[in-house]
Amino acid sequence: MKIALVGIGKIARDQHVPSITASPDWALAATCSRAGHIDGIPAYTDLEDMMSAHPDIQVVSLCMPPVPRYEFARKVIAAGRHVMLEKPPGVTLSECHALEDMARAAGVSIFATWHSREAARVSAARDWLQDKEITKTHITWREDVRTWHPNQDWVFEPGGMGVMDPGINALSVMTKILPSPVHLLGAELEFPANRQMPIAVQLQFTGNTTADFDWRQTGPQTWDVEVWTTAGKLHLTQGGAHMTIDGKDAGHDPAIAGEYPALYAQMADLVARGASEMDVSPLRHVADAFMLGKRVQVEAFDW
Ligand code: NAP
Repeated sequence: MKIALVGIGKIARDQHVPSITASPDWALAATCSRAGHIDGIPAYTDLEDMMSAHPDIQVVSLCMPPVPRYEFARKVIAAGRHVMLEKPPGVTLSECHALEDMARAAGVSIFATWHSREAARVSAARDWLQDKEITKTHITWREDVRTWHPNQDWVFEPGGMGVMDPGINALSVMTKILPSPVHLLGAELEFPANRQMPIAVQLQFTGNTTADFDWRQTGPQTWDVEVWTTAGKLHLTQGGAHMTIDGKDAGHDPAIAGEYPALYAQMADLVARGASEMDVSPLRHVADAFMLGKRVQVEAFDW
């Protein structure tokens, strides 16, 4: 199937282009971006121009930051093309529901992707936990914003979500592996004095579940989920690429390598089946944290 990528920046170059190029399902037929392009691929700066010039492009994958994404998605659906959304699928829950309704009415597939759910051991963790009695869960998601979002001011602007941008990846894993849903009880959000969005967040959920997100970590990065059960402790590290049970190796793969290829394989399957997938449960927890969280001011942040 012919596919177009819109918003050629860090994640499009790092993950989307290599995954599409390596896949037997897809041919990258065009890009649309104000400045970015991919060598050898027809490049447009206007979405509607691109879609009119390429009526055979069936799927459009949107890789720009979340704030502008809704308008692009709306136009893609209105043009009768299937649409794939980077995470988070919207800046509000209402946007996501509106897009889902539009896609249904237009008879096209919409896929709200959660790349961390495709980390190599996440499905195995869900399967292992399915029949266990869980006593405690703790998530540690600490990374260096300067490495993963260099000079991307949008992450600290309204709708950018701050540290919730990577934190929502952890929540996408949590909502996939825990056998029973949890909901937020309280949160503390640390806002740099000069920024609109938090740089660190602590969350407390039902089910003795806690999460600690921090964007100020230098050196080794931590993307861990620990789940204690009456039958032993499961520990996902490297964002879900490695797993141990009671400290014993239960599988490890290179971090992130298979995540985006798995998303593109799922998109091919959704289009073939005329189906859609829009699970907003990770975004709901983020919205709850902004509604319920206590705000704390911390040191100003500059790149
Ligand atoms: P980015 O590099 O800042 O943005 C991607 C591209 O989107 C930009 O190069 C820009 O291209 C276009 N863009 C930016 N603002 C726009 C606007 N207002 N209107 C239209 N186009 C705009 O961001 P990114 O790191 O790739 O992240 C994009 C999405 O991927 C986010 O939702 C993020 O959560 C997700 N993601 C990022 C990472 C990561 O490691 N960074 C990992 C996984 C997922 P032009 O200037 O050429 O238009």
